[in-house]
Amino acid sequence: MERKIGESVRGRFLHVENVQPRRADPSGPEHNDRIAPEPGFSPAQYRTLGLLYALASARAGTWMIPAFHANIDRGIPAAHDDPQNFDLAAFDEAVAKWLRKLRAGNGAR
Ligand SMILES: [Zn+2]
Repeated sequence: MERKIGESVRGRFLHVENVQPRRADPSGPEHNDRIAPEPGFSPAQYRTLGLLYALASARAGTWMIPAFHANIDRGIPAAHDDPQNFDLAAFDEAVAKWLRKLRAGNGAR
């Protein structure tokens, strides 16, 4: 697997960290945050993330490729494991709603 980090990828990522309250797993190491809530994120978070994705993609001139932090960090010791319990269907629906809304507003006035 090729891994590119640092200056060579500056400007090629839009990094979003969603707020997610976590609890410690008693069977894990001290001060861990392994247990995420279910559902993992609120409707407002999907709505905001969907708008951000649509606008960032419009600015980039192409649909950006969404990736989970856990996958980007794979292989890094003590890497991020988020987003846990992310609902891809909810994100997809949020993006679709924004696209309908943004397209309807385009030229409607
Ligand atoms: Zn993260």
